Formats: sequence, C-alpha cells, structure tokens
Amino acid sequence: MQFDEILKKTEYTESNKPNLKDYESAYNSFDWNDDGYSRLEWLSDGGLNNAYESIDKHVAKGFGDKLSMIWIGKNGEEEKYTYSDFKEESDKFAQVMIKLGMEKGDRVFIFMDRLPELYFAAMGILKAGGIIAPLFSAFGPDPVKDRMLDAGATYLITSPDLRNKISSIIPDIKTLKNIVVINKDNRQKESLVKGDLDYYELMKKVKSSEFSIVNTSQYDFAIMHYTSGSTGKPKGVLHRHQAVVQQLLTGHWALDLRPGDMYFCTADPGWVTGTSYGMIAPWTNGVTQIIYEGGFGASAWYEIIEKYKVDVWYTAPTAIRLLMRAGEDVVKKYDLSSLRFIGSVGEPLNPEAVVWGNRNYKMPIHDNWWQTETGAIMCANFSSNKIKPGSMGKPIPGVTMGILDDEYNEIETDKSGILAVRPGWPSQMYAYWQQDEMYNSRFKKGWYITGDQASCDKEGYFWFQGRADDVINTAGHLVGPFEVESALIEHPAVAEAGVIGKPDPIAMEIVKAFVTLNPDYEQTNDLRRELIRFAREKLSAGVAPREIDFLDTMPKTRSGKIMRRLLKARELGEPEGDISTLEDD
Ligand code: ATP
Ligand code: MG
Repeated sequence: MQFDEILKKTEYTESNKPNLKDYESAYNSFDWNDDGYSRLEWLSDGGLNNAYESIDKHVAKGFGDKLSMIWIGKNGEEEKYTYSDFKEESDKFAQVMIKLGMEKGDRVFIFMDRLPELYFAAMGILKAGGIIAPLFSAFGPDPVKDRMLDAGATYLITSPDLRNKISSIIPDIKTLKNIVVINKDNRQKESLVKGDLDYYELMKKVKSSEFSIVNTSQYDFAIMHYTSGSTGKPKGVLHRHQAVVQQLLTGHWALDLRPGDMYFCTADPGWVTGTSYGMIAPWTNGVTQIIYEGGFGASAWYEIIEKYKVDVWYTAPTAIRLLMRAGEDVVKKYDLSSLRFIGSVGEPLNPEAVVWGNRNYKMPIHDNWWQTETGAIMCANFSSNKIKPGSMGKPIPGVTMGILDDEYNEIETDKSGILAVRPGWPSQMYAYWQQDEMYNSRFKKGWYITGDQASCDKEGYFWFQGRADDVINTAGHLVGPFEVESALIEHPAVAEAGVIGKPDPIAMEIVKAFVTLNPDYEQTNDLRRELIRFAREKLSAGVAPREIDFLDTMPKTRSGKIMRRLLKARELGEPEGDISTLEDD
C-alpha cells in the first residue's frame, strides 16, 4: 500500500495537521526487501495495528519460525521465542483482555520487570484494541498512583512483588477493574491477593490460540507514555497506531536494522525508547531481540554481545559514560566483532564518547535525537553519513527541522535558537493527556516547539545545545550546558558533569558545574582549580565554569538523564518540584 492511502482520512486539528507530502516520497522510495519482509502491511479491513505489524505480519508471510526474542533472566535463565510463539502468546492474552471486558481505548498499565510475559501482554493488549501505558518497575507507590489516577487506568498488569510494593495506593484508583498478576516460574513467594487474577490461570482458560485482531484504525490510540520529568512534572503523551510507519522506517534508516539481525536495546519499556525501539521498530523490521532482565553491567553487556553475536546495539549516553568509567581493559576481554552498528539516544552524546567508542568498539557511536512526543527518531547520524562528533546528525527523510528565534522565525545557519519541527510526521503525539493548553502551546507559526535549543550547520547537521530551560545567559553570552559538560568530561578525573546557570548580580548568571569523579581521583581544591583551568583552555574564559562543586552521585532521572533543574534548585535552596522520576542514590 502506498503512502497516500496511509493517511487518506485525517482527524487532526489545524495545529497538528499532517504535512505528509514530504514524507510520502520518502516512504514510497524506501528500498523494500523483495520478499516484503519488513513492508508495512494492513489489516484485511484497512485498519492498522502495531502488534500485527510487529508480530503477526511475519507469521503470515511464512517467517513464523524465525526467532523474535531471546530472553536472558537475571538468574542466568534463557528462553527463546519464535514469531509464531509470540503470536500465539499475544493472541491468547488479547482474548484474556477481551474476556475481562477491556474496550478500545482503555488504558492498561504495565508495571513489570523485563520478562517475556510483559511483551506478550503488551502485544496482546494492542491486538485487543487497548492502550498500553508502561511504568518503570523501580517506581514507588506515589509515581504509580499519580500516573494511574491521571490516566484513569482500567487494568494493571504486574508481578507479585511489585503489586505488593504499591498495595497501599490500589484502593485510590477507583477506575481500576482488574489486576492481572504474573508470577513467572513461581519466583516470588507473595500469594495472590484476593480479587486479583492469575495470568497463567487466565491464559490456560483460553481455548483457541487464534485471535482475530480488533479492527484498530491508524488513528486509534496505542501507547501512552509519561515523559522523563527532566524539566518538570511528567506529561502523559498519547500515540496512535499510525506511529508504526515511522518506527518501522527509522528502525531501518537510523538504526540500520535488517531482517534476521540480532538486536540489543538497553532501554527499559517504562520509557519511550523501550517501546518504540524495544518493541515496535525492531519487531516490525523482523529482527531477533535480546531482552535482558538485568540492569547495567559492563561485563554483563559485553558478554551478551559476544555470546549472541549482537549486530545492532542501541543504548544511551548515561550508559556509555558508565562503560567509559568501567575502562578499556574490560572491553578487551570480549570479542565484540559481531557489532555492525551502535546507536545512542536520550541525552546529548559527548564528543569524547564518540572518540572513545571509535577506539574501543572500532566504530563510532551514532547519536540520534527524538522525544517522547515525537514517538520515533527524528534526527540521526545514519550509517551512511560522515559523523561529526557532538552532532545529532540530520533529520530523517520527510522530516523538516528548523532553528527559530524568539518570535518563531527561522534563523541563519550556525546560529543557535529554538529547535522546532514541522508538524505532520507519522509518529507525532496526538495529545498531552488532559493538558490541551500545554499541548497547544507547543505549536507556533506552523512549527512544533521541541523545548530544546540547537543550531544547524551549513551541511545540515544539527547540534544540540541544551534544553531551553537550561541555557545559561552569562554576561550577554548564551551558553549551552552541553558544551561545558563535554569539555569537562574530557578531563581524565571527570566521570560526569552537570552544568547550570547560577544567578549573579553582575553577569546575570555564572556558569557553575557539578562533577562526579572517576575511581582513583579525590575531591580536592587542587583538582577543582585544575578543572577550571582545563575548561578555560578548551572553552573561552566567558564560557568555562566559574565554580565547580564535587558530587558523589549526579542526580538523574530513572531513564538516566542529568536533572539540571534539581542541581539548580538545590544550589539555590529552592523547592525541588516533581521528583517522581529521580533515580535513587
Ligand atoms: P520532560 O519532558 O518530562 O522534561 P524529557 O524531555 O527528558 O522529560 P523525554 O521525552 O524522555 O523526556 O526526552 C526527550 C529529551 O531528551 C529531548 O527533548 C532532549 O532534551 C533530550 N534528548 C534526547 N535525545 C537527545 C540527543 N540525541 N541529544 C540531545 N538531547 C537529547
Ligand atoms: Mg521533554
């Protein structure tokens, strides 16, 4: 099916009306595999469903025996599932949800660790027409309550220990109809709470393994994600099945995914990278995905890459900085030669990390930029492009990005300003849940305002400068925290750096840095002075930090982003605001 048919009818408002003409030629010129392995398919009645595209499509085309998922449990377990297995499990769970009375558009929260059943449930819910709303499993009761209340959750899929953790808030969620509890391999000793339902019991009762997907249209809602909370209270971002168009394409274009690849995405499905690129993009592209239940571990990750011969690895700057900290000797112990492509998203990727990757992985790390709101990659360092370390690359085909001044007019190349995107890309958010005013405020003069600051060079590469809220105005210069942080982490003592503007009566703001140190370095005044000197040499004196404080740990969101607003609030002794996504120390 050609692109014009994808978007024949629209229900968009003026502010986000698709401008899909540009996208159309990109889609239609895509080099589809001859066997149609990864082409977008449609439901027989003209609908579109993410789970069909991810799983069933491959079975229908005769690729059911290919591996869709290899699960590696935290206790060393290994389970393998073909696309046919996956179809069967998700078909069954779809029937469970229908039997429970789930209706199209119901918000089904998933609060689970990375177990195969999480993925079966997610795809089953989509097949049955529900909206999946994933929650990061390390959340405590309050963030879970906030989100479930806000979204009017109707179902909760969880495990016994996590159910136990949030028991106190369950009575407050009046919209909740059922809780489905998954006790995989009876790993946990908590018994089923009265009124809760056992996943395996429900699955056993399903008679037929075949399920006819509910007729979702491309405009039906599929996924709801709360943002990371880096800049304030997390927003509920609603996406449609239509987003699959861009997830499929960017999986191929920006991550270089090819059918049959072994793919390892380290993001948790509690965040958008873990659904867009930990579910939909890889599976629509027909890869085998590694799902690793454990968290970060340099040796553990390298071992996975070596053992399973991972082709494509998608991770985040925060993890890369930890890998750098773990050192080069660890890398040398493993054979990572299967790797063909490494991608990174979530924060700016410091140029130093690209250089380090080149040296240690014998290939660059490809940074790409997008947001929960954009649903899929928007700007990327493609495998075919020359990489400029520190740049987030170029917009994907069909997407127009611009740099605007304060009046929302485009400005010249090389000047920094507001990073904006022309609305109408297929995976564009449909709404901020129950926050129309905030949603509308993001659209100005025909642009979607991303909230980030960047510049674009003459060759069309985009350079991230900082979040609009974080840009520092010092003595008339605008300074992006990213360039200062990147300079600091080039010093061997510095593991991570977070930079803020500290109010100053003369300069308006001064640049202040907070740093954590690598093992074997001590927090001394000499080092502090040396770091200031070092930064001055790398940057100009006006841009280098005037003050540096040492921290034992950097405050970060649970998705791994440095929380500069918190550094600032703490520095100024102001209220910390919403810290529901703050990582534990
Ligand atoms: P909130 O919107 O709640 O403050 P958040 O913006 O961190 O949180 P996400 O949608 O997870 O929530 O993150 C998107 C943001 O992450 C982008 O707007 C940008 O600031 C940052 N980001 C993502 N990828 C990159 C990248 N490659 N380079 C620079 N920044 C990036
Ligand atoms: Mg944001």
